[in-house]
Amino acid sequence: MTPQFHPSLVNGPFDDPALYVDFLYERRALLFDLGDIRALPPRKILRLTHIFISHTHIDHFIGFDHLLRLCLGRSKRIHLFGPPGFTARVEHRLASYTWNLVKSYPADFTLVAAELHPDGRSISAEFHCRSGFRRENEHTVQLHNGILLDEETFRLRTVFLDHKTVSLAYALEEKSHVNIMKNRLLELGLPTGPWLAELKRAILRGEADDKLFRAWWHAAGGMVERHFALGELKKEILQVVPGQKIAYVTDAAYTPANAARIVDLARGADYLFIEATFLDADRERAAERHHLTALQAGRLARQAGVARAIPFHFSPRYQGMEDRLREELGQ
Ligand SMILES: [Zn+2]
Ligand SMILES: [Zn+2]
Repeated sequence: MTPQFHPSLVNGPFDDPALYVDFLYERRALLFDLGDIRALPPRKILRLTHIFISHTHIDHFIGFDHLLRLCLGRSKRIHLFGPPGFTARVEHRLASYTWNLVKSYPADFTLVAAELHPDGRSISAEFHCRSGFRRENEHTVQLHNGILLDEETFRLRTVFLDHKTVSLAYALEEKSHVNIMKNRLLELGLPTGPWLAELKRAILRGEADDKLFRAWWHAAGGMVERHFALGELKKEILQVVPGQKIAYVTDAAYTPANAARIVDLARGADYLFIEATFLDADRERAAERHHLTALQAGRLARQAGVARAIPFHFSPRYQGMEDRLREELGQ
C-alpha cells in the first residue's frame, strides 16, 4: 500500500512543536501546531491549506508571523483552527502591523480562523489582506463528534484536553485505501487510465455494489466503453484496506479524563505523535506544568494500540538525555 500521507516533525524533539503532513497525490499539506517553522522550505509552507493549533502558548504559535510574511501578496487561502479565544488571538496578531498599503495588492491572501468550543460550536472569521486584515464574515457551525473536516478521502477529528487551558489534540484518518491490482487488470484486458481514479472515488463514496460503473479509455479505433457492476470490479481488481491514521497529542496533563480521550482519539493509529516532555522521575513537576511524562505517553500509546509512537516536545533540561526519554516511552 502506498501511504497517502507523509508526516514529519519540522524540528528536533527539543525544539518547537510543528508536524507537517504532506499529501502524496496533491500539491497540498497540513500542519499541526505552528511553532518555529523556519526550517520548512517556502515551497512546502506554500502547500499548506489547513493548520491545526493545539493552543496558543508561544512555542506552538510563534511561527504565525513567518507564515504571514511568506504568504502575503499571494492568492492563497489558509484555514487555521484553535481553541476558544483563538480568533481574537489571530486578530490581535494581525492588528499589530500597519496595513495601509495592501489594498492595491494584486492578490488577496486570506486567513480563515476558526475557534472550537467544547459544546461543538466552531466560530470562524475571515481576514483578507485587501481589507487590511480586519475581522469579517463571522460564521458559526455546529460540529458533530469533533469532526472538523470531512473530505472525500479523509476525516479530521479533534478532542479537548486539559492543560490548565484547552489544548486540542487531532487525528487525521484516511477513509479507506483502495489498491488496484495491476496484474488482475492485465488479465482482464483492462488498460489503466483516469477511469481508475473515478472508480476509487466511487468506492470511497460508498456507492452500492449493484450500481453500474462506466470504464472508458482511448484505443486505436476511438473511445472504448464497458460497464461493470461496482461490486464485480471490487471483487476482481480492487483491494479495499483500512486507511492510514495519524494522531497528534501535545501539552496535556495526565488526568483520567485526558487519558481516556487520548486513547480514544489515537486508537489503532499508524503514527501517534505525542509529547514526552518530562522523565517520569520528574512526574510531579510534569503534573505542575500540566504535561505528560515519557512513561505516561508510552502507556497511552500502548493502551491505544498504535503501531508507532513518536515522542517530541522534550524539556531542554534533558539535553543529552534523549535516549532515556525514548527508552521510557518504550518504542
Ligand atoms: Zn502549553
Ligand atoms: Zn508546549
